[in-house]
Amino acid sequence: MATFDEWLHAYDVVYHALPAASGLACPNCGHRTLRLVFTAPPGAGHGYASFWCDTCLEGIALSRTPIPGGADVRSTDEPVEERNRGIPDYRLAT
Ligand SMILES: [Zn+2]
Repeated sequence: MATFDEWLHAYDVVYHALPAASGLACPNCGHRTLRLVFTAPPGAGHGYASFWCDTCLEGIALSRTPIPGGADVRSTDEPVEERNRGIPDYRLAT
């Protein structure tokens, strides 16, 4: 299982590639299925980041992180089931 630091490094790569897809391999399983979704109040420049792999369902979550242009952002005004659409219940790396 990848460490939190390895996930953080992957997050950094994916984050800076936005709005393009990074094509980066998952630090845990090696599949190129990393996903990054932000949840924030409308108009806020920062929010909560969900970063995970769709294949092994592991990842990390970060709060109060700046939101780059072109990111997938969900509004905290939306109902929970709506803004969590497509975000699986993944295991958090420690
Ligand atoms: Zn994976």
